[in-house]
Amino acid sequence: MNRNSTNIIERWYKTILGLALMASSGLLVGCEFGARPPGPDRAVLTSAATSERWQFGDVEGQKLSTPHYAIYTTSGERDLITRLPEFMESTYAHYCRLSGLPPERDAKPMSIYVLANRQQWAAMTEQITGPAAPTYLKIQNGGYSYNGICVLWDLKSDATFGIAAHEGMHQFLHHRMKDALPAWAEEGVCTLFESCRMVKGRSVFKPTDNPIRSNDLHRLFGSSAWIPLEKLLGGDAGDFLGEQSNAYYSQLWALALYIQSEPRYRAGFETMLRLASQDELHTALGLSSQADATRSLVHVIALPAFERYIDRNMRPFERNYREYCRKVSGEVQPKKPWYVNSGR
Ligand SMILES: [Zn+2]
Repeated sequence: MNRNSTNIIERWYKTILGLALMASSGLLVGCEFGARPPGPDRAVLTSAATSERWQFGDVEGQKLSTPHYAIYTTSGERDLITRLPEFMESTYAHYCRLSGLPPERDAKPMSIYVLANRQQWAAMTEQITGPAAPTYLKIQNGGYSYNGICVLWDLKSDATFGIAAHEGMHQFLHHRMKDALPAWAEEGVCTLFESCRMVKGRSVFKPTDNPIRSNDLHRLFGSSAWIPLEKLLGGDAGDFLGEQSNAYYSQLWALALYIQSEPRYRAGFETMLRLASQDELHTALGLSSQADATRSLVHVIALPAFERYIDRNMRPFERNYREYCRKVSGEVQPKKPWYVNSGR
């Protein structure tokens, strides 16, 4: 049940996220891609990814395989083809570290489609999302994760990597969580990956370094757009449209940072994820394991999950959270480098 509920919830998240942000017929030519002379649309990989031919309609592409990913792409951008396999593998390690979940050794690789342009992406979206396609086709900049499959197009900039890392976390949670998480937990933790950067062939995870979220948060102070904590926790992206969307995402980004910055909150968060990965979260919260897999489930579990695993004293928490928001938005003191995974 829970996988379905996640899917339904994801439809809401991903639609709004995309608006806000941003057939395989493989003929195995199988060897280390790096040993092959680069052609006009191919590049030498720095990782141990392997390449197969892949065709999307009449467009030539390739499938890049790594231990945890199957990346199908029609992009001819050498930089993307070279860096993305390594980037996703090292980002996967960050997903595991932050969630507290161990890497999966023998799981089926997760599919990521990176199309060369929006037109190809739209055609792929029709195939993958079927009747839901009209909703996804409203996305103008980036991509989405649907039923555990990421579908992006190449933005020809580092933004492609940020979107891949955000959507990749949704994908990771889809595959690892048997119970749906509250919206505040899933969307918040995904925003932490928007600022992954490639440095010397590895992804560097620096979640505080997110100017878009930080600036949005800064603008909230003194405005009426600030979303009170209880309302923030109890809703999902579908409840915060238009102007409120930026407030919703930036506040969840800061909430996720705050939770990760406090050992007791981080421990509670990890417990929640572990239980969800074992199909035990909803039962622990007193929900029937047969509970309807509907969007309303997110609203039902949102506050109980927060009170159980983060803090039951909402008012003191909110005071401290607001203060943290001021810091992380640069209002009180300059931002300092900070890494969630330091020392772990
Ligand atoms: Zn998201």
